[in-house]
Amino acid sequence: MSVVPARSEAMPRVVHSVVTLRKAVAAFHAKGERVAVVPTMGALHDGHLALVEAGRREAERIVVTIFVNPSQFAPSEDFSRYPRDFDGDLAKLAGLRTDLVFAPDVGTMYPKGFATRVTVSGVSEGLCGAMRPHFFGGVATVVTKLLNQCGADVAMFGEKDYQQLLVVKRLAADLDIPTRITGVPTVREADGVAMSSRNVYLTPEQRRVAPELFATLNRVAAIACAGGNVATAITEGIASLGKAGFGPVDYLALCDAESLVPVVRLDRPGRVLGAAWLGGTRLIDNVPA
Ligand code: AMP
Repeated sequence: MSVVPARSEAMPRVVHSVVTLRKAVAAFHAKGERVAVVPTMGALHDGHLALVEAGRREAERIVVTIFVNPSQFAPSEDFSRYPRDFDGDLAKLAGLRTDLVFAPDVGTMYPKGFATRVTVSGVSEGLCGAMRPHFFGGVATVVTKLLNQCGADVAMFGEKDYQQLLVVKRLAADLDIPTRITGVPTVREADGVAMSSRNVYLTPEQRRVAPELFATLNRVAAIACAGGNVATAITEGIASLGKAGFGPVDYLALCDAESLVPVVRLDRPGRVLGAAWLGGTRLIDNVPA
């Protein structure tokens, strides 16, 4: 459903070039205003909008970037059919008083001769990094560029993509990017399913099955927190996902919340993370433990 902005809600200014983006951000900074950036691939839902609202609490000005980044999709993945709704996105952002939307085209982000790739070792290697080897290199490269292009004071990223959040924190620290990286809790549907632009791919039957992923993560987290047998909980969790109607489970793991190294006991904050297929759609989710 697309949201029609009320008459009083100004549509955000849309800029396509890095020069114009930098000028606009410099003008905010010249007035002493802080700037928050929210990087997205568009097809915005309430999870993205929570990032904008969180940004509003940190800064006077909000920049949302909308760019479906080809370099984080493998050739076999859904780049060409990834949902796109630019006008709907602008209407939703107008309702939240977004100041600027940066919507570069592929040629702006990857001009002829582009030859650099940002690689983050450690936190990017397991979990989604092991299953999608192209993915975090693409994410790290585009996020490094977006942070440099925007020069914001703070950048908002969702805990929904928990491994991505840690990868971005790592690269910002390692590359001396002065933008503060802030995580925002996952926004869920009433039945617990984490909001995602890709949920539109699910058939009604798959959508009925989807809450079992969050339920499974919570069961594993509860057993881990109670000092129970984590290996058994994970084996049973994978079985229950299959029984509910999920296809292959890419991973279901209890990890250290900072390093993402798998653990079997919780001496420090942990995270239970899972990725599983429902038909042709891969769902990911995670919860604290
Ligand atoms: P995407 O457009 O899927 O690349 O996501 C853009 C940003 O929104 C990323 O930082 C995501 O982690 C975040 N995000 C996506 N879904 C949610 C959600 N359900 N709750 C909170 N943040 C989310």
